[in-house]
Amino acid sequence: MLQALRKQVCHANLLLVKYGLVIFTWGNVSGIDRESGLVVIKPSGVPYEQLCPENMVVVDLDGRVVDGDCRPSTDTKTHLELYKAFPGIGGVTHTHSTFATAFAQAARGIPAYGTTHADYFYGEIPCTRAMTDAEIAGDYETATGKVIVETVGGADPLEIPAALLRSHGPFTWAETPTRAAELAVTLEEVARIAALTEQLGGRASIDSALLERHFYRKHGSGAYYGQSTP
Ligand SMILES: [Zn+2]
Repeated sequence: MLQALRKQVCHANLLLVKYGLVIFTWGNVSGIDRESGLVVIKPSGVPYEQLCPENMVVVDLDGRVVDGDCRPSTDTKTHLELYKAFPGIGGVTHTHSTFATAFAQAARGIPAYGTTHADYFYGEIPCTRAMTDAEIAGDYETATGKVIVETVGGADPLEIPAALLRSHGPFTWAETPTRAAELAVTLEEVARIAALTEQLGGRASIDSALLERHFYRKHGSGAYYGQSTP
């Protein structure tokens, strides 16, 4: 079932290893088939070297396993909340990458300090509020997804396609699983540069005109970065 998406999601998970964002079994990527409403996600606790398209797990939007022999990632319900809230996305990634997680543990968003940030994120990457005791004790993973959605608020989720889960780590999302994983790589680099900027005493956000110019030359109807596809 969903063989092409299984391949994409497996490949995207392995990108996290390739770019040094995860160790052991940390992190996960999923992808959704919007036509069927089914989500393919990494199995729980399976080492990356054993991942293959066949052991990816297919779940429905209520979290029920539809196809697969393994249990899905423990973070599955968080991914599902994001798919339900953001109809334009097709992939979600979660990691504990070092610098992005450091900002999350400092309970801080990542300010837009320069054009590397602006090329991918149209403003500060937000950090969520602290979760309540009831949210933590209850359906924790669903509540986690809801708090991320609450943080994005009315903004276009593809203009700032990431959030830091307070005390925890980053989530990114995009049109495809591969793109979501690539954004996790980009986010980590942006977080690393931001931390270094602050170490050098820099705290000034990028000029808003420069932020806008850099974001929109790569995104939206007026984009002109890269090669046009015939
Ligand atoms: Zn986590």
